[in-house]
Amino acid sequence: ALKAGIVGLPNVGKSTLFNAITQAGAESANYPFCTIDPNVGVVEVPDPRLNRLVELVVPKSIVPTAFEFVDIAGLVAGASKGEGLGNKFLAHIREVDAIVHVVRCFQDENITHVAGKIDPIDDIQTINLELILADIDSVDKKIERSRKNLKGGDKKVVQEVEVLERVKEALYNDMPARSLELSDDEKLLIRDLHLLTMKPVLYAANVSEAEVADTDNNEFVNKVREFAAAENAEVVPISARVEEEIAELEGEDKAMFLEELGLAESGLNRLIRAAYKLLGLYTYFTAGVQEVRAWTIRSGTKAPQAAGVIHTDFERGFIRAEIVSFDDLSAAGSMNVAKERGQVRLEGKDYVVKDGDVIHFRFNV
Ligand code: GDP
Repeated sequence: ALKAGIVGLPNVGKSTLFNAITQAGAESANYPFCTIDPNVGVVEVPDPRLNRLVELVVPKSIVPTAFEFVDIAGLVAGASKGEGLGNKFLAHIREVDAIVHVVRCFQDENITHVAGKIDPIDDIQTINLELILADIDSVDKKIERSRKNLKGGDKKVVQEVEVLERVKEALYNDMPARSLELSDDEKLLIRDLHLLTMKPVLYAANVSEAEVADTDNNEFVNKVREFAAAENAEVVPISARVEEEIAELEGEDKAMFLEELGLAESGLNRLIRAAYKLLGLYTYFTAGVQEVRAWTIRSGTKAPQAAGVIHTDFERGFIRAEIVSFDDLSAAGSMNVAKERGQVRLEGKDYVVKDGDVIHFRFNV
């Protein structure tokens, strides 16, 4: 399963946010693929399309799709030189597919800031520098090894060194590897390095309880927005402390609390959706009277492999897929009307599943 790692300097609110995530807790019986680990929290992806399908089908059960957040505490300045538990944490970051970088935007004199002042950009750059230094180390070593192979004249090695040199130059200019425009082939050449600064990032701007309803005019958040815009990254303003409280509530209590705060939905929901998008994931649905369920695939997945997410037997015995887009089904109001309108298609094994497809698989057992 894909994972998003939560990183940030000490005392910015990572644990608080992670608590909210585990409190909100997914029904783990539904997600047997998920890791059981105190540093991993499973979250369900809120999706209004799922609610609409439930209206249309009225199923016995509803299962949203889910992914994992990993709490990667302890990243401090000097980590790449082995400060603190440096290398161990960098190794954890290497294993995640995307990074949620928590940045302190709340002022509270009782809570020490490691640098002695609130300066979100400085904080971001401190962490980024550690990741860049760690990547420089990987790239330098790799270039050295590849150079030795260059003598063989292998064209692939030549290309690889070329790409590595470009990455190196970016890193030495304090730019993350993801800021380079690399083709898919070029990315493939350096994939084995699992560069930390190649991973997609979003910034979670942790604001105080008092400021949660209006973050548009928050000076700190706006600085983060400006910084993030330059690297095409998204910013999710959130109050970790408020989220911790929200996560303890349910149903009407939750709705009332959100209303009091002036929020349409929890910040956690917004964060989950943003992280899901960052991971580059698509959702397709199955909608039967027993169960309406959302499933996760990577973009570009073909129908049999998408079926395989449900069960390997579905992939092995795949015959055809009966597919209607969510939008068509929602507008039609029922599967029968969608069929009358000719919107339900039969697709074969080469069909590339789209985000929002509602699918009924036909397979041999
Ligand atoms: P971590 O070191 O990044 O995991 O930070 P923690 O989650 O442990 O938070 C550090 C301190 O900041 C704790 O005492 C939290 O209660 C506090 N904190 C976290 N978020 C907020 C917030 O939005 N407002 C205020 N006032 N305090 C917060």
